[in-house]
Amino acid sequence: MKKIEEYAEQISRCSHCSYCQASCPVFMEDIVESVLPRNRIEVILRSVIDKSMPLSPRALEIIDRCLLCTNCTQGCSSQVPIDDIVIAARSAISMQTGGLSGVKNLVMGKMLRQRGLTALMGKAGAMVQKVGIATKDMPPLAAKTFDKFYSGTVKAEGETRGRVAYFVGCGTNFMYPDTGVATVNVLSRNGIEVIIPEGQVCCGIPSIAEGDFKSAREMIEVNVSIFSDLEVDAIVTDCTSCGMMFKEKFTKVLETADPLQEKISNLTSRVWEVTDFLNHLGLREIPGPMDSSFTYHVPCHRAWSPTVRHAPRQILTQIPGAEFRELENPERCCGAAGAFYMAHRELSEGIRAHRVQDIKDNGADLVVTQCPVCRFYIGSALKEQGTEIVHPMIMLARAYGFNGC
Ligand code: SF4
Ligand code: SF4
Repeated sequence: MKKIEEYAEQISRCSHCSYCQASCPVFMEDIVESVLPRNRIEVILRSVIDKSMPLSPRALEIIDRCLLCTNCTQGCSSQVPIDDIVIAARSAISMQTGGLSGVKNLVMGKMLRQRGLTALMGKAGAMVQKVGIATKDMPPLAAKTFDKFYSGTVKAEGETRGRVAYFVGCGTNFMYPDTGVATVNVLSRNGIEVIIPEGQVCCGIPSIAEGDFKSAREMIEVNVSIFSDLEVDAIVTDCTSCGMMFKEKFTKVLETADPLQEKISNLTSRVWEVTDFLNHLGLREIPGPMDSSFTYHVPCHRAWSPTVRHAPRQILTQIPGAEFRELENPERCCGAAGAFYMAHRELSEGIRAHRVQDIKDNGADLVVTQCPVCRFYIGSALKEQGTEIVHPMIMLARAYGFNGC
């Protein structure tokens, strides 16, 4: 990631068009001028870069009160990389002050650096209660993690059409192994051999959200050394945030002269979200009928692929009998944003309330989304009414008749 000072020129490109206003979930909830994306980067310019303004508690709050959803960056008429600027500012502040939020560091930082720390994940509930987070705010931890179900190579059924390496995100490994089980089985049924390399770790996105590039680089180095030299057609992930991290952020986090850059460029062109990958390849076998309706919550981290936001609609409407019902605003943020909702509970719950109301008004039997954090956060608000939210691969796996998804 560029040093924060290097973003001054890009900040100056802001034309104050305010296109970013309606796309910012935080502004739409707070309705306070200072958290507008364009004002957020102005605060960064003045309090972190040219220091014409003190880095006051309010300035820190404005910088911290950003979901890094990327919605502003996606729609910015001057192509200002607002989320990258916020990340770089957090890194600079972190070096000055020792971090923005101890809670997020505690919960996400250490636990995700090593995939082997499953036991530590098991202690997470007790840890977060000590710092004032209720158990209901914690994602569910699976009794059996995905890496205990599958590792190594899963052969394709029938004639082999392709070979992929599967990057299993932390959300799937620790919270929702059913997504991984569905992914492996659906790919295999469609003639794709799946390699699940050992030793893979968190993609590093929770660390860059905290401005902790040192930890992120450690994770990037491990994953790049595992995935970059594999002879596969694609590297698939079921998580849109992990996909964005591999595809766009790996190269930005590292210095330009970092020796890992060459390996990263060899890797990024082959990274796909799995629903998107399968949709491009085409289903080999149309699944069985499903007499139910579904809707699709599009994750915010979608801009790294031109087609990832279309894939679930296109692939799941091939299931005979499955009725697709579009949400009023399918790309509305849910307010979770990794661990953001833990530190900004009231704000996140306000943002989520709109998303949940859309889903209730829609009335579909099932909601699909490719983000495990959206799945957890929206799902916990949908429990009362009994609407289920799953990964698109799970819906597809059920239509193929797989049990246990
Ligand atoms: S990344 Fe999201 S929350 Fe942050 S300023 Fe942009 S739109 Fe607002
Ligand atoms: S959309 Fe971009 S150019 Fe327009 S006000 Fe927002 S940051 Fe500035």
